[in-house]
Amino acid sequence: MTVIDIASRLVEKIVSGGSRRAARRIPFRPHSLQLDEPVIAFTFDDFPLSAAENAAPALEDAGMRGTFYYSGGLAGDRENGQLIATDDVVVDLAGRGHEIGAHTHDHLNVQQTPIADMLDDVTRNIEQLERMGAAVPPVSFAYPYGVVSLRTKLALMNRFAGLRGIESGINSGVIDLAHLRAQELYDVSSDPESIGALIDEAEKTRGWLIFYTHDVRQRPSDIGCSPAYFRTIVDLVRRRGIRVETIAQTLRRIGVAPCQAPTGTQQGLSG
Ligand SMILES: [Zn+2]
Repeated sequence: MTVIDIASRLVEKIVSGGSRRAARRIPFRPHSLQLDEPVIAFTFDDFPLSAAENAAPALEDAGMRGTFYYSGGLAGDRENGQLIATDDVVVDLAGRGHEIGAHTHDHLNVQQTPIADMLDDVTRNIEQLERMGAAVPPVSFAYPYGVVSLRTKLALMNRFAGLRGIESGINSGVIDLAHLRAQELYDVSSDPESIGALIDEAEKTRGWLIFYTHDVRQRPSDIGCSPAYFRTIVDLVRRRGIRVETIAQTLRRIGVAPCQAPTGTQQGLSG
């Protein structure tokens, strides 16, 4: 058992029974967000091929770019019934200006994995990205399944400039860089009206609204959306004239991520 395991288990005992809740609520890397204008990000977990084929062009047509969270162990395989993009698709997308962020290599649930194993897995994923020509480490990370615990936040919070969960809401005021909030874009649970209301709130609070989804295809899964729905939301954002950035771009702009990728690397893969 590592020092982090012992320390965080102690903390978990102290917050008896509320570990998950506390992990979500306690800002481990608080940052006072002060944006001149609201900003929106479109992010994709697991990197289904359909997101690369359907969502990336929709963003590009509107002059936008997205953030795709890569799990090396899933590449070319299936996850949740979805075909996951192969590494050459990932490299191509990066070359078109999209950000490639990190998920875990084996898409493991970080809450149920010993810290040492989880860190090994995260490192393996980064090494795979490095072999593909990426500037490493990636700027941002998304927790698989959105699950976090005190231990995992402690272990990962300084490895990436920003870490995204699936706790809904807008990032505004004092935000947690170790657990950024995000809003799902799923056909089954959101619609343009509810998304429009969220955008209103982001404008009012000059906040950072991060969307996430998985597959983007006709007859999407319950954790994905149709190309038509995705384009509707992109168009809604475009017509409102709201700035759209990758997660890495915003993290750089607010001064919490290095401004430039290391030289000699394929810059696109750094987002
Ligand atoms: Zn995932």
